[in-house]
Amino acid sequence: MAEIPSGSRAVAAGAIRCGVCGTESRQPPFRPSPPEQPPDLDLRPGEPVRSTMARWLQQCPACGYCAPDLTRAHPAAAEAVRAAPFRALLADTSIPPLARRFMAWSLVLEETGALHAAAEAMLQAAWVADDLDRPDLARSWRQEAVALWRGGPPLDAEQTVRVVDALRRAEAWNDAAATARILADSRPPEAVAQVIVLEQRLIEAGDSGRHTVATALPPPSRRPHVSHQRIAARGEGLWAKLRRLFGKG
Ligand SMILES: [Zn+2]
Repeated sequence: MAEIPSGSRAVAAGAIRCGVCGTESRQPPFRPSPPEQPPDLDLRPGEPVRSTMARWLQQCPACGYCAPDLTRAHPAAAEAVRAAPFRALLADTSIPPLARRFMAWSLVLEETGALHAAAEAMLQAAWVADDLDRPDLARSWRQEAVALWRGGPPLDAEQTVRVVDALRRAEAWNDAAATARILADSRPPEAVAQVIVLEQRLIEAGDSGRHTVATALPPPSRRPHVSHQRIAARGEGLWAKLRRLFGKG
């Protein structure tokens, strides 16, 4: 039997060690199967990944740290987890438990300066609110996600589409329309332009509902030869890739 070197503690079989406090816990492994349905316009994945949100984050039973991988923690994460805002958030029973987990991860990311990643986690909290039929929470958390996106480095056209979608779904109509107009005027890539046309129509109609990428992205009228498609796939934008995968025929 191999001897455990002194100075290092072995982790019990099937358990992982928290990157913040060192406590061991069992966390079920999560390997999602690839989405078969198209994502929403804010890139919430389609099924079967869509309904697995309860398994996207692990949470330490001792310190409450939440992350996709508990064993990994930014050097500043420990401080953020011990600080009052994080403790207050974990104790706030007015927030649904699963949403609280995504907000806790968002707070850690924000404290470590990863504002765009913090925005993603906040948007995910809004998806939880959508599923719980809490439009009040979903609207306010989408607005918070937008504030985090805008607080970080400048966003490219591909990501700005998602800001427009978050604003539309938060019913921030003026901001959504203005942001969409600036993006449309910036001569974005074709696939981005197609999504923005749909977003502008929805904003004008006061439609704050969920729509998928398949609605926004008709495939190119002339389908390129498959080998060309493969060449184009390298270096193609996010929305062009989604159009190739999910565009309605
Ligand atoms: Zn911990």
